[in-house]
Amino acid sequence: MNHNNYQSCVAVAGSNPSIIKDESLCVECGHCLAVCSEEIGVAGKRIAPAGSETENACINCGQCSAACPEQSLQVKSEIDDVRAAIRDPEKIVVFSTSPSVRVGIGDAFLDQAGAYAEGKMVAAIKTLGADYVFDVTFSADLTIIEEGCELIKRILTGSAPLPQFTSCCPAWVKFVETYYPQIIPHLSSAKSPIGMQGATIKTYFAAKQALSPRHIVTVNVTPCTAKKAEIRRPELNDAGKLLGEPSMRDNDYVITTKELAQWMQQEQIDFAALPDMDFDSVLGKGSGAGVIFGNTGGVMEAALRMAYQSLTGNPPPDKLLEFQPVRGLEGVKEASAEIGDTTVKVAVIYGTANAARFLEGDISGYHFVEVMTCPGGCISGAGQPQMHTIPVTNDIRLSRIRSMYAEDARMTLRNSVDNPEIQQVYQEFYKEPLGELSEKLLHTTYYRR
Ligand code: SF4
Repeated sequence: MNHNNYQSCVAVAGSNPSIIKDESLCVECGHCLAVCSEEIGVAGKRIAPAGSETENACINCGQCSAACPEQSLQVKSEIDDVRAAIRDPEKIVVFSTSPSVRVGIGDAFLDQAGAYAEGKMVAAIKTLGADYVFDVTFSADLTIIEEGCELIKRILTGSAPLPQFTSCCPAWVKFVETYYPQIIPHLSSAKSPIGMQGATIKTYFAAKQALSPRHIVTVNVTPCTAKKAEIRRPELNDAGKLLGEPSMRDNDYVITTKELAQWMQQEQIDFAALPDMDFDSVLGKGSGAGVIFGNTGGVMEAALRMAYQSLTGNPPPDKLLEFQPVRGLEGVKEASAEIGDTTVKVAVIYGTANAARFLEGDISGYHFVEVMTCPGGCISGAGQPQMHTIPVTNDIRLSRIRSMYAEDARMTLRNSVDNPEIQQVYQEFYKEPLGELSEKLLHTTYYRR
């Protein structure tokens, strides 16, 4: 039976890199269609021509799969490819974990939702055979510096239009490219954190360790199904272009938190009994600002901390270290912050349907707008485990968010610009934000779909 129509349920093209659908399990309950039309704002927005596949219309967020109670819609797994890389003696397999994974992975194994399980997560990945485990909070800090400098440049010089929109959510980027291409000049050119991480591993890290980048396999563990599509964007081979090997991808695989949990279950790893382990260096340290990247408002708060210190020369005040107006689970939040002589007006949005309504209003007057596709941000990405409930409840989302803010508050390093590993990578390699090498490896372009 083929349910591929927009009347009852979401259609999934066979070539979709993020989601697969088993039509035999679909009961046409319509939960997937409801989330895709009401929260994501995609279903029904543009119907592909009859007879064609619908991959362009899908933004790969996977929220349809997170809403499916029948296991008909599922995340496309890359575990077997990663296992094969680990078995290959020539390959050096480098994992990087996104901020939200550490507050999601425990949901699959522990009674408490949203437990901060960073050390056990690292230990589990090492047990599975990783050669190195790095932290994407490092590249979240790198993103904030590049994106923050771009914002300051736009404000001070008018180099590009305001407001600047964040670009770290690939589903949001594809939403703009597909449905609002007139907004493309407003998107920050900064790559997402995993985009920066992959390019930095295959250049800076490889050179520092005297490893052949050709032998490095980069695996990102993320809460996000859209990242599976993002790493396959043709232009994201910047390390290869720089090194004269354009067939080499910056990132090779993305597995979700859910896939990591399934893999651990297959290997009968006792998560609760694992010892805590530390990330490897030199891409293993992030600030509290990098940690909170995973929840709605986190990127904005991180950017304001960075902008304050860069523009005034002083550390951000307590108010900006707990900037309440951008916290919480409202779909659209607005705020102003005094930074030097400028009143910076910002908005924080989750749900691309909310973003569409925002774009259809008057966007003039804002300086910076954060958009994440998933409800509550990446903490609730479609690749997060759902052992407790389908769909994920706001209580679970809030547990994960509280866990991240608590870790940020506990840390002494809370501003991306203070991260010593970030200072080191600029001194030894990138030299300066928005410099020649930074533009080549850490920034990208977008196109009308
Ligand atoms: Fe992926 Fe986060 Fe965007 Fe969801 S909000 S699509 S998890 S980047």
